[in-house]
Formats: sequence, C-alpha cells, structure tokens
Amino acid sequence: MSKPIKTRFPLKIIASYLVLATLAVVVVVFLFSELRTYLNAANDTDSKEVVKTGSLINLVYETDSYSRLALLSEDEEDFVRFQIRVDSLYQRIADFRKSTPKESQKIQLDSIKKLLISKNKNIIALRELSMEMNEDKSLDDILREFSNLENNMGKFTLENYLKPKWRSEKERKSWENIIRMSNRNEGVDTMKISAKLIDSTLATTRFIVAEAKYNRNKNREELKIREAELITNDLVISKNLQELITVFDQEISKNYLRDKTEQQRSIEKASSVLKISGIVGLVVILLFSYIIISDFFRAEKLRKKLRIAKETTEDVLKSREQLIATVSHDLKTPLHTISGYTELFRNTQLSEKQEYYTNQIASGSLFITQLVNDLLDFSKLEAGKLKIDHIAFPLENILLESGNAIKDRYSDKAVKLHLVINEKLKNRYFKSDPLRIRQIVLNLVSNAFKFTETGSVSIIAEIVTEKKKRTHVKITVKDTGIGISAEKQELIFKEFTQAEEDTSRKFGGTGLGLAISKKLAGLLGGNISVASELGKGSSFSVMLPLENVEETEIAVVPKTISETTRLAKMQLKALVFDDDRAMRSLLSEVLEQEGIICNAFEKFSDFETISGAVDYDFVLTDIQMPETDGFQILKHFKSGNHLMYTDQPVIAMTGNQQHKSDYYFEQGFSELLHKPFHKADLLNALYTLFDIGEEVIKEPITATKKEEAIYDLSLLKSFMKDEKGLKEILSVFLIQTKKDMIELKEAVTKNDRDTVRALSHRKLTMARQIQASSVVSLLEILELIKNEDSELERLFGALEVEMSKMTVALQSEIS
Ligand code: ADP
Repeated sequence: MSKPIKTRFPLKIIASYLVLATLAVVVVVFLFSELRTYLNAANDTDSKEVVKTGSLINLVYETDSYSRLALLSEDEEDFVRFQIRVDSLYQRIADFRKSTPKESQKIQLDSIKKLLISKNKNIIALRELSMEMNEDKSLDDILREFSNLENNMGKFTLENYLKPKWRSEKERKSWENIIRMSNRNEGVDTMKISAKLIDSTLATTRFIVAEAKYNRNKNREELKIREAELITNDLVISKNLQELITVFDQEISKNYLRDKTEQQRSIEKASSVLKISGIVGLVVILLFSYIIISDFFRAEKLRKKLRIAKETTEDVLKSREQLIATVSHDLKTPLHTISGYTELFRNTQLSEKQEYYTNQIASGSLFITQLVNDLLDFSKLEAGKLKIDHIAFPLENILLESGNAIKDRYSDKAVKLHLVINEKLKNRYFKSDPLRIRQIVLNLVSNAFKFTETGSVSIIAEIVTEKKKRTHVKITVKDTGIGISAEKQELIFKEFTQAEEDTSRKFGGTGLGLAISKKLAGLLGGNISVASELGKGSSFSVMLPLENVEETEIAVVPKTISETTRLAKMQLKALVFDDDRAMRSLLSEVLEQEGIICNAFEKFSDFETISGAVDYDFVLTDIQMPETDGFQILKHFKSGNHLMYTDQPVIAMTGNQQHKSDYYFEQGFSELLHKPFHKADLLNALYTLFDIGEEVIKEPITATKKEEAIYDLSLLKSFMKDEKGLKEILSVFLIQTKKDMIELKEAVTKNDRDTVRALSHRKLTMARQIQASSVVSLLEILELIKNEDSELERLFGALEVEMSKMTVALQSEIS
C-alpha cells in the first residue's frame, strides 16, 4: 500500500520542479531577448544624434547670422569670424557623417554640405558686390572730366605735360611741384576769357556731371539686379537648406522616437511576461503544493497506520519472543528434572518395559532440550540479541572437530566421512565468530548424517576469492542421502519447516536448524544455499567472508582463542550461587560467553528442589549468604545427599579477608576468588581446574576517566567487553540497589541489625566489583556493625549520600 505513494510522491515533487524550471528557463530566455532589444533601443547613439543634430542646426543658424553680419558690416574681422563658423560647420558635418551608420543620413548630410558650400559662395559674392556698390566712382569721373577740361583750356597737368611716364614716386612728386609752380607763374587771366568760352565750359561741366550721374545710376541698377539675384539665390539655398535640415532633424527625431517606443514596448512586454509567468508559477506552486500536501497527509495517514501496524507486529513479536524465551527458560528447569530423574531411574533395576519407557522419556527430553536450545537461539536471533564475536581461529580445526563429533554420534551408521580441505586453508587463522561457524557446520553435518543411511558425507572447504584483507571461503557439506525435492529446497530454510510431513516422525528434528544456520550465516556476512536431488543426496554450501589474520597477530591471538575454544569445546555446565542479582547476571553472562551453560540460584533452597535433575561440571558459590552460606553449600554437596554431585570442583567467591586461602582449601573448596575479581581470575581458575594448562594474562586495567572518586568500571569492563552487556549489568545493579536501600532503611528504622549486616554484605559484592570506594568502606563497617553500636543511623545516612552520588553517576553512564 505504501509503494505507490513512495514512488508517486517524489515523482510529483520532481514534476513540479521540472514545470517551474521550464517556466523559469522560458521567462529567462524571453527576458534576455527583450533585454537585448531594450539595450539596442536604449543605445544612446540616437539621443546623441538628436543632440548633435540640434547643435548642427544651431551652428547653421549661427553661421547664417554671422554671414549677415559680415555682409552688413563689411568688416574684415566679421567676415573672418563667419569663415571660421563655416569651417567648423563643415567639420561638424564631416564628424556627424563619420559617426552615423545610416546611409540615408550620410546622403542627407552630403546634400546639406553641398548647399552650405553654394550658400557660402553666394555670401562671398554678395559681400563683394556690396563692397563694389559702396565704392561710388562718379565723383572721380567728374573730377577726371574737369581735368580734361582744364587741359583743353591750356593748364599744365602731370599727364599732359609729361607725356612719358615717371619712373618713380619721388620723380613724380618732383614733376608735380614743377607743374604747380609753372601754373602759378603763368596764371590765366580770367578777365581775358571770353563769355562764350565760359558758357561752353559750364555746359560741358553740366554735361559731365549729368553723364556721371547717368553712369552712376546705370551702374547701381546693374549691381542692384545682381544683388537681387544673389539674394534670391541665397534665399533659395537657405530655404533648401532649411528644408533639408528639417527633414534630417525629423528623421533623427523619428528614429529616436521609434527607438524609445521600442524600448517602452520591450519594458511593457517584459513586465507583462513577468506578471504572467509569476501568476503561472504561483498557480503551478499552489497546484503542486496542494497535490503534494494532500499526498503528504495521505502518506502521513498511511504512515500512522503502518506505525500502528508495526507497533502491533513488534508487540506481537516481542510477546512471541518473550513467550519463547520464558517458556524455553522455564522449560529448562523441569527438563533438567525430567532428564535427571530419568537418568536416576535408568540406573536402578528396571524391567524391559520400564527400560523402554525410560528410554522414551530420555529421548523425548533430549528432543525438548534440543528444541529449547534452538528456540532460545532463534528468539535471540529474531530479537537481534545474538552477539557476534570477531576473534581469530583455525578454520581447519572447526571442520575436523565438527565432522568427527557428529560421525561419532552416528557411529552405528555405515556412512563414511570425507574431509577435503584446501591446502591454503590448513594451519591458517581467520577472524570471525568460531562458535557460530561451528554451530552452522555442526547443524549441516548432523543433518547430512541424519538423512543418509549409506554412502558418505563430505566436508569440502575451498577458497572462492582471496584479497589482502578478506578471504571468501566456501564450506560444502555433501551427502548421499535422501535428497530434497526442488520445490521444498526453498522452504526448508523457514523456521519449523521440514521437507516432508513425516520427517519429524522418521528422523526427528525441529525444523529450526537450517533457519538458525541461515540467520547465523547472514549475521557473519555470508549466505547458505542448497543443491539437491531427491533420492541422490544433498549439498549445502555456506559462503563466509573471513578476515585474514596476519602472521604477527597469530602469535598473540591464538593463545586466548585456543583456551576459549577448549573451554567451549568441553561444553561445561556450571552451578552458580550468589544472593546478589547483579552478580548472578554478570557471572551467567561471562560464563555463557565462554560457552559454559550456567544455572544461577539466589539461594541453595531454590536449587535443592531440582538438584537431582541438574547436571553440572563445577560449582561457583558466594561464601556469605543469608540462608545457606558457601561453607554449608559445600557441606551439602560433600554429604552425599546430592546424587548429581560426583566430586565436581566447588569454587568459593568471597569479599571477606578474614580467612586465608588455605582455610578455604582445607574446607574442601577447589579454588578461591577474592571479590572483586577480574575475568582472567575466573578463567584461570577454570583452566587450572579443567587442566587446560594455560594462563590468561590480565589485560592492564585502565582507570575510568570520570567519576574516579565514586567508582571505577575498569574491572567490570574486563568481564563485559561490549557496552550493551555492561549497561545491562549496571541497570540490574541499579534496580537492585534501589530495592536494597529501601530494605536497608526499613531495617535501620526497626534497628534490625541482622538484616542490616546481611544486606550490607550483599551489596558489597557489586560495590567492590565497580570499585565504589566510599560506598564499599561504609558497607564494610555496616556489614560488621555491632548490636550496641550507636553509629548505625549516622552511618546509614552517610551511605545514603554516597549511594545516591553513585547511582546518579551510574545512571548517567548508562543513559
Ligand atoms: P531439522 O533437521 O531439525 O528438521 P532443519 O532446519 O535442520 O531442521 O532442516 C529442515 C528440513 O530440511 C529437514 O527436516 C529435512 O527435511 C531437510 N533437510 C535438511 N538437511 C537435509 C539433508 N542433508 N538431506 C535431506 N533433507 C535435509
């Protein structure tokens, strides 16, 4: 149900992102193109052109004004100024022409220049004309005529007297002076001039003046006509120029306006596109948000349902696990009773029938024991509580030992055992969990023997891949037995499943072995597979990744391993007596780690009810306990009242320094452990007792960094390498401490000194183990407090303070 949501949910998010990204890309592309248009339009050459045109027009008009000034004033300076303007106008036109890319404008500018040139020419002509007009020669003409008249009347003149021309100005001046003197000396006597001559002279004079006047008028008219022509021409040129400039100006303005409009349009277009895309984006976001949110809520609903379902399943699984664990655990004790008493019964005189019955009971209880052990393993595996070790071991040994052990069990069968171990795997150490590998191999070999009546069972070990750090090893257990049909091959790895319905009846078994093996192989990083043919035999293969062990490591590691495996190999069973729950948990855990089956009891009376049924190889007992102490327990065993006691070693554990070791040995104890002790002390005691002949060197204990004054967990850590186990032990200790302190308080209030002493002693065990020095010293006093001692309440008060300090610190350590 959750699958479609899982896939659709991110799909919708991706789709929404894609739509938004596409929209963003489209908008960006559009905006970019609009921006280019805008920038093209915004190119300020147009506005520059407008400014240039304006200044050009101004210059044209300014030049025009200067031309008029030059014409009117006839001053040379004005004319020069006019020419300067003309030149700068030409220059300005040339610059404009150069800067504009438009051909039409270039042509227009050329035309303007041409017009300006002709206008300039016109102005020059007009100026010359005007100067000519102003230069009136009529009086000169009259004077010349009068001079001619004087000549005719006999007066000397420079011209008529000196016909040949003078050579220089000086010469001329000299001649003029001479003539002036001669004219004075030879003055004309006007009285002697006749009236006729005077009349003719006057008439001539009038005529001369009249003629001069006529000539002057005629000349003036001509000039006026020319002037009019030139002015008309100038007007035409000016008009053309104006028109041309106006057209040019209009065109520039038009271009400018057009660009501005284009720009405006671009902005409007861009803003409307932005608006539209914004709206579309918003709609898309809203739409997808709605879809995603509704999906999210739907998913949330389903998730909630799933969570509830998961919780229910977990609860059910937990209950199942608890049920399996409790039932298995609870079954163990009565099972021991059944098998114990059956064993006792078998040792008595029995009839044939009775022997048959007891054999049936024995095999039944063996079956249940196997089932209980498998169930415990399985429930641990299911709960993920099974710890995997990572230690060095010789693989070859495991294969040899497992093969031979099972073959011995099935010695009545004519089935041969072959061991084919790759040379490279021999005499070689690998790192993994040897105990679990042994369990898998044992299960496979045991199945192979179980389902094979004749023929052989082969254990083949080979290397699949070998790398620097890791070697993948394949262990195949092959038999020539009944085989498994193809359709059943997958099923047999499921818990409580057997290939055939009558398998259990015919061959026994619980259907759990392969399920456990498969899970174990998985935990070790490998896998297990089967190839089989009905009636011909089966071949089970386990692939395991094993860490290579360096030569240098082997020198150090195997020592511990061989000891560990040797202890585990002995399949020892232990009886533990300790009134402190935390200590019982600790010892059970440690012994189980070493492959020793442990039965722990709070008091001897608990054990007594089942004592006949519980088998054990050694006893580990606390000395000082409320009901039956360690010495009494030893006495009980030695008294011969316990049928299962066949002189097994009894190890004493004590925190009391009252007696020397010899005292305990004299009493009959085999070993003595002084509390607090290191795990190595316990193991060394076992090695001595079971003649393993080695010694574990205590790892140097590093002091715990914090809360040094309150406690030190280094000793406890020698027992529990993994944090989880350590925390479990500590939490048991804390719970127990809380209960004990309530009990102790009650005892103090009631002045029940016996209980105070007993409880203090009990608490001492773990307090010493965690080296809680302040608590230990107070408990040591309380343990031996006398009846008449008045310090009880004060001591208890101090203990309460130290205990609470310790519990707070420990609590934070485990949380
Ligand atoms: P058990 O052996 O206790 O029944 P297992 O899980 O070890 O449980 O095996 C499950 C089933 O697989 C067996 O009951 C049997 O039917 C089948 N099986 C396992 N090993 C073999 C084998 N070597 N040959 C034939 N059948 C086998």
